[in-house]
Amino acid sequence: MSTYLTQAITLKTHAVGEYDKLLVLFSRELGLRRVMAKGARRPRSKLGGRSEPLCHNLWELAHGRRMDVVAHCETRNGFRGLRTDFDRLMAAMYVAEATGAFIDELQPYPEVFDALAAILGILETTDAIELTVLWFELRLLDLLGYRPEFDSCVHCEAELGSACGFHPDLGGGLCDACSPMLRAMRLMPGTLSVIRLLQRLESPPDGGMSVTPGLLANARAAMRDAIACRTEIRLKTVDLLSRL
Ligand SMILES: [Zn+2]
Repeated sequence: MSTYLTQAITLKTHAVGEYDKLLVLFSRELGLRRVMAKGARRPRSKLGGRSEPLCHNLWELAHGRRMDVVAHCETRNGFRGLRTDFDRLMAAMYVAEATGAFIDELQPYPEVFDALAAILGILETTDAIELTVLWFELRLLDLLGYRPEFDSCVHCEAELGSACGFHPDLGGGLCDACSPMLRAMRLMPGTLSVIRLLQRLESPPDGGMSVTPGLLANARAAMRDAIACRTEIRLKTVDLLSRL
């Protein structure tokens, strides 16, 4: 049986039959892949722990008739720091689900893959979990060509005031004149500055940035609407994350 190697992060798993597992992988080279890990649910299977969601592995996959099958895998990073802390784990599950909602099969997204692998590592230790997630949401939209526009009103190009609107379908901020007409979501005074600042950062803030819970919730709601609008998927982990 011919095999091939790929780097991939497990996004989701489903139990199949008595001992097998269906894995939804995000492959750096191949995009979304569904593969079968035979025997991964046997008590002493080496594949058991390595095939858990959020593990980054080098996979050897064998071409199968209906679905490719795991022949072997070597762990690159198991992100253990995520698994002992509920808030970190929920945040990581959310960023993985949000990423998976955008990617297609057989299309490579190396930059998105690298960004996801990096953010999972950062979520293991950061003291600013929610800001890190918000930064990643903005980065994800940017990398996929959906960067929200906050330089000026996306409808009339007027300057945006400190309080303005956000319209996910139109892809950015709306001035006070256009917001009511286009039924924009309201951004609180200050939210725009937070979003603009995060859009300029090359990596997530590591505790040096202080944002009130109200502004954070407002900015997160806007980015989640932006992601839902582009993927047309309501992410399951959104509700869990909002309880952090
Ligand atoms: Zn306007």
